Amino acid sequence: MRALVKTGAEPGLSLQDVADPVPGPNDVLIEVSKTAVCGTDLHIERWDEWAANTISPPMVVGHEFMGTVAGTGSEVSGFSSGQRVSAEGHITCGQCRNCRAGRRRFCANTVGIGVNQDGAFADLIVVPATNVFPVPDEIDDDIATILDPLGNATHTTLEYDLVGEDVLITGAGPIGMMSTAIARHVGARNIVVTDINPYRLAIASRLGADRAIDPRQTPLSEVMAELNMTEGFDVGLEMSGATAALHEMIGSMITGGKIALLGIPSTDQAPIDWNDIIFKGLTVKGIYGRKMFETWYKMTTMLQTGLDVSPVITHHYRVDEYQGAFESLKAGDCGKIIIDWRTDPDM
Ligand SMILES: [Zn+2]
Ligand SMILES: [Zn+2]
Repeated sequence: MRALVKTGAEPGLSLQDVADPVPGPNDVLIEVSKTAVCGTDLHIERWDEWAANTISPPMVVGHEFMGTVAGTGSEVSGFSSGQRVSAEGHITCGQCRNCRAGRRRFCANTVGIGVNQDGAFADLIVVPATNVFPVPDEIDDDIATILDPLGNATHTTLEYDLVGEDVLITGAGPIGMMSTAIARHVGARNIVVTDINPYRLAIASRLGADRAIDPRQTPLSEVMAELNMTEGFDVGLEMSGATAALHEMIGSMITGGKIALLGIPSTDQAPIDWNDIIFKGLTVKGIYGRKMFETWYKMTTMLQTGLDVSPVITHHYRVDEYQGAFESLKAGDCGKIIIDWRTDPDM
């Protein structure tokens, strides 16, 4: 089969023929139709410090995908050949305290598809049956391909009650864009999105932001005054990893406000003054992965009841054009980028 492989401890990926994976007794073999490129894949492609410390080449990369069931292991039931599926990319042990308590996203022994074992950028992938998620008919292939990052957005955005609340989203990458649509869908009042990329801000506006601003040009305080917000944001969703954005968020929250952190800051950034958190009585919570499988049910039912995140998908490439996909992601003027693996694509 074809696969995008990190062949050695150096930058780049290569499209190669590799052996087909063989499902174990509890696995599902999936024929991959479409994949999406994630920031994680870019770290691996570039071979930065995180990648060098995490990835063991040779390995097939990629974790955002959808496809159809091509086979099942001897112990697997409940799937039919050709059924449309996606999968949770975090494979958990089922034995540790968090797994047994139903908090599988905190599994001490998590193995990441396309990070710790062969991934989805291939014609075929093998996934444990417990990780496979059947895709409802109403959800098209493109959206089914991005359920993994939509799950990050869903998990973060639904962490706090947003009904009638004023929400600040810092960072209009794909997850911030999709969080904007979710916050609108579930009944937030004012949604303000900040980023420094006008292309991404424009998509956030399409997805329902009341204001999508570059805070270097438009002070947040000015926007809050325009929206008749007198006491600050009720909920903050930090999606940028930029400490400047987090500082501004903390400074713009109502006393007693709630913040969810998804963006991953680099380690060399300015520290937070905890006095700001304490004296404002803020709740700050880190968000990781997706709740298995509550987040998956929530996002699919929202998609079935009118949530439209399709503007987040901005680019499509065929697999032989994969380098263009990575170049588009590096350039930054993009949302989600889809790579089509089908040999008879109707594109
Ligand atoms: Zn991802
Ligand atoms: Zn576990």
